[in-house]
Parts: sequence; C-alpha cells; structure tokens
Amino acid sequence: GQGDIHAEVVVLGSGPGGYTAAFRAADLGKKVVLIERYPSLGGVCLNVGCIPSKALLHVAKVITEAEEMSAHGVTFGKPKIDLDEIRAFKDDVVGKLTGGLEGLAKGRKVTTVQGVGKFTGPNMIEVTGDDGSGTVSFDQCIIAAGSEPVDLPFIPHDDPRVIDSTGALELADIPGRMLVLGGGIIGLEMACVYDALGSKITVVELMDQIIPGADKDIVKPLMTRIKDRYENIFLKTKVTAVEAQDDGLKVTFEDDKGEKFSDTFDKVLVAVGRKPNGKLIDAEKAGVAVDDRGFIAVDRQMKTGVGHIFAIGDVVGQPMLAHKAVHEGKVAAEVASGEKRFFDAKLIPSVAYTDPEVAWCGLTETEAKKQGVTYEKGVFPRAASGRALSLGRSEGVTKLLFDPENDRVIGACIVGVNAGDLIAEAALAIEMGADATDLGHTIHPHPTLSETVNFAAEMFEGTITDLM
Ligand code: FAD
Repeated sequence: GQGDIHAEVVVLGSGPGGYTAAFRAADLGKKVVLIERYPSLGGVCLNVGCIPSKALLHVAKVITEAEEMSAHGVTFGKPKIDLDEIRAFKDDVVGKLTGGLEGLAKGRKVTTVQGVGKFTGPNMIEVTGDDGSGTVSFDQCIIAAGSEPVDLPFIPHDDPRVIDSTGALELADIPGRMLVLGGGIIGLEMACVYDALGSKITVVELMDQIIPGADKDIVKPLMTRIKDRYENIFLKTKVTAVEAQDDGLKVTFEDDKGEKFSDTFDKVLVAVGRKPNGKLIDAEKAGVAVDDRGFIAVDRQMKTGVGHIFAIGDVVGQPMLAHKAVHEGKVAAEVASGEKRFFDAKLIPSVAYTDPEVAWCGLTETEAKKQGVTYEKGVFPRAASGRALSLGRSEGVTKLLFDPENDRVIGACIVGVNAGDLIAEAALAIEMGADATDLGHTIHPHPTLSETVNFAAEMFEGTITDLM
C-alpha cells in the first residue's frame, strides 16, 4: 500500500481535467497527489474516448476515400481488414499518450496513486485497492471524477452483443447488422467506423434530428450522406425493448405515432448519453453537495460549496467535452495556487468527427431564435469552394451569425470535411470580439477550406455576392 501521505493539492481522477489540474498546480509549486483507479492515466478521453475513436475514424476515412476514388478514376481492390492490426494501431496511439502522461507526472514530481478514492472527511480521502491503499490528507482538493455511459433499464446490458462506446472501441468483431441507439456525437462517430468496416448500420434517435445540439441545416449534409450509406435512420423513434435471442437481439421500436415495429440485429450499441460519477466518491462526507443525477455544482472559480474543494470536467456538467475539462482544470489549479482566475470563456466549441464533420460554437441559430437574440448571417456553401471540389467533397456549408448592432461574430456552424479544425478560427473571432470586416479582410490562403470562413463573412458584408 501507499500508506498515509499528505498533499497540498490532491486531484481525484486523471482524465484531461485531472491531469491538467495536477500538472498546472505542480508547475505553480504545489505538492500534488493524483489519484486514479485505473492503471493507465488519461481518463476516458485518452483510454476509451476522444483518442481511440479518432484513430479508428482515421482508418474509416482512408477506407471510404479509397472506395470513392473509383468515381475519379482510381480503383482500389476491396480492402483487407485485419482487426487485430487496427486494434494494435489504436492501442499504440493510446499507449504513447498515456505513457507520455506518466513521464510528465514524474517530471513534475506529481505523486500518482492507484486505487479508488473516496472522501472520509473534509480534508481526507481514503484510497482502496490496486496497492495505492492508504489515506491522502489534503489542504485543497480538485474533484475530476468524470462520467460513464448511461445504461437503459429495458436493455440486457450483460449480453455481450449489447455494447457501449467502450465496447465499440474494443473492436471485438465486425457485426453484420448493428443498431446504434442514440443519434448523438458518440453514436454517430462509432456508426461511421463500423459502416466503413462493413457493418450494415441502423441509427435510432428520439428527437427529430441527429446531433440535436446543432442546427438542422448544418446537420443536413451529414444526414444526406449517411442516409445513402446506412440501412436505416429512424428519427422521432424510441426503442422500447431489446430481447436477447439465439439469432440476435430483437429490438422493438415505437415511432411518434405510437406505431410499433421490430427488427433483429447482431449488435446494439447503446449511446444515449453519459452520467457523472459524482455519486461514487462519498462527497457528502466532505460536505460537497451532489445533485440527484450525480453532478457537482461549482462557481466560476470551480469551487464547490466547500471553499477548499474544487470540481471540474464532466462531473460538473454539460457539455461533457475534454477541452472544457482541460480549461476548467487550469482555472481550478490556478485558483488553488492563489492566482486570481475564473472561468470566463465565451464559448466551448463542439465537434462531431463524423464524415462529414459537424462543428459549432457560440450561438446556434436555433438558440438565437429560442432566446430572442436578433442576428444576421453569412452563409457560404462548399459547392463554391475550389478546395472542397478538388477533394471530391462539395457538400457542406459555413454559416456565421453576426450581431447586427456591431457586426461582431456571435456564432458559427460548419459542416463539411475538416469542419472541426476550421471552427477554431471562428472560436478565436468570437473570443476576441472580431467583426465581419476582421474576418473578411484577413487574407486566407488559397485554395483552403479556411477560405469558407472568410467567404461567409464576405457574404454577410455583401463584398461577394455571386458564387462562382
Ligand atoms: P474523465 O476523462 O471521465 O476521467 C475521470 C477519471 O477519474 C477516470 O480515469 C476515472 O477512472 C477516474 N475516477 C473516477 N472516480 C474515481 C475514484 N473514486 N477514484 C479514483 N479514480 C476515479 N470529448 C471531446 O472533447 N472530444 C472528443 O472527440 C470526444 N470523443 C469522445 C468519444 C467517446 C467514445 C467518449 C466516451 C467520450 C468522448 N469525449 C470527447 C468526451 C471526453 O472523453 C470527456 O469529456 C472527458 O474525458 C472528460 O474528462 P474528465 O477529466 O472530466 O473525466
């Protein structure tokens, strides 16, 4: 066991929020202990989230691009898929990054302790299991316990044919027919991977559109493409039962008119959301309030109701995204180290790394309408982008929202290849209070997809009116 140790700052959980907070606090001179229940650092993001999914999405992209090149005069043979090799590639990427974290922790003299940490009092955490057993007393604590997939009560989760995102990333096999339950970002990214590998995909979503957080017009190019590739996409439909049978999983659906129908799948991927881990750490023993769903409320300095205990990342609320956790981790560590700092980001960008990608930040049109915010927009379609056409991918659009009072950018939505990278420019524009002229007069390299941001601003300004 680890025995009994003391930390000036203890961080509970080593995901992107936790390791960022631990490293920042150590850099600012604090004696830091980082507690993690799993042998590998990095949390969901590095081990079973952002990173492995992107490695598999890259594989998917290469496969589909090769397929589609036949329309442009280059025909490849049917791809030979070696699942073990693909898995090894993904695991190698993950291993490099999690191994790198170990080095970064050592370099900063951050003590890592393996085991499950639970509060026993306002200045004490007890660690059990995996040889980190002992207690950690602390002056200040940063809770970064993250989240896990939501289970549904009417689904036989113990059947190996029912998987969550972690199971999907394990790449056990390529199912013949797969149902993706939930048309959000995580479900659609995994659908993209398994579609490319050869599974027949059905997606079922309760709302009237996929990726419910994004504007409908922005989701449309993705919808058009996957409608073509996938077996079925059921919107406004819920799953009411999943029965394990010898020949597959029999799924009963119910549409918005109450009509029931059923179908049988080889695998069902449940991707209906994530729940915070706030209830698993005995927070009440430290006096920290956890709500019914497991979220921990914090103020703008990331402080819980208990002044020396902070919380960050997925456990404090939506959006559950790694870059949000990282940003909050820095704020918490800096406040804990005596700096004057608070969370004042104007926006948190969202990206679905589907094919095509869907990205948005700041106000969406749907939110602007709901909140009664007046806005004007500049919209540039990819069909008029030389670079998009030369990639053989003319679908997509860049839409910028402006405040009509001062022409400042207040929102951006982009759909198309590489939208996730392009949204960063719009995020910077909004953070800096840039207006349409700033974006329109900035010379963008030609021919790049980044020009679509420039052109959307010019469309709003009226400095380009006709599209070539
Ligand atoms: P987590 O990463 O959840 O880490 C929490 C850590 O705390 C875990 O390692 C856990 O083991 C540990 N822990 C919890 N309780 C205890 C305890 N009692 N004792 C010890 N240790 C404990 N986000 C993006 O921004 N971009 C993406 O592309 C993206 N892709 C994703 C793909 C998938 C399939 C999934 C599932 C998620 C994805 N996310 C993505 C979300 C992202 O992974 C999370 O937002 C992020 O990991 C949250 O970081 P965190 O630090 O709050 O917590």
